[in-house]
Amino acid sequence: MKKRFLSVLLLCVMLAALCCSVFPAATAAAEDRPDDLPDIDIHSWEFRLCNAYNSVAFYICEYGGIEGQGLDPRVVPYAQELLSDARAQGYTIYMAQGFRNLEWLENNYKSVLRDCEYDPVAAARAFQGIGVNEHQTGLAIDFTDQMKNRTNFYRFTDPEIFDSELYAWLVEHCADYGFILRYPEEKAYYYGVACPHAHFRFVGKEAARYITDHDLCLEEFIMLYDPDLVFIPEHGRFA
Ligand SMILES: [Zn+2]
Repeated sequence: MKKRFLSVLLLCVMLAALCCSVFPAATAAAEDRPDDLPDIDIHSWEFRLCNAYNSVAFYICEYGGIEGQGLDPRVVPYAQELLSDARAQGYTIYMAQGFRNLEWLENNYKSVLRDCEYDPVAAARAFQGIGVNEHQTGLAIDFTDQMKNRTNFYRFTDPEIFDSELYAWLVEHCADYGFILRYPEEKAYYYGVACPHAHFRFVGKEAARYITDHDLCLEEFIMLYDPDLVFIPEHGRFA
């Protein structure tokens, strides 16, 4: 009887060891966090995760208006300050996209799908549809420096924007206003979406400063608090 108890105990210990080696990230404890990590609530609204592997489904934010676009009302004052300061520095800057509703996302996806001859994989690479489009959270802004007319803008989807002085200013200063460059090219493994836009995302000033100073993407930052909050498939990277 005692022998049987010992073998069951041994089996339990082996299973626990196996779990820890297979799922090491899931066992990361609070004491393993970097000492300088901001003391924030990672479940707060600023950290709502939206990417190719972490859908927000049909969630849409409540939104307030700013310069003909929508944004989460809690983000509006920060965006307003960024726009004012950029203009005070002499930059021409517009919000090409803020909040986007489900109808807009669906209609655009349909037209992209048509353009891609109904190949859903190609369409998914070209356009972020419902659930994976951060613009439905009201936390994201695509900036540009050229207006076409009152509601349309040039350049924000054009790779040329990355060579502009405005883009360089935004990358350098966005954290001062609580924003991060959302999709650093070399971090696509974590977020999976193709995003050529000058796309910035609000996370609050403290988190934005930490993410920028430590050269992280949002997913890496969230994982420092709780790895279980971020799903990354083994072969999920878009080629
Ligand atoms: Zn965008």
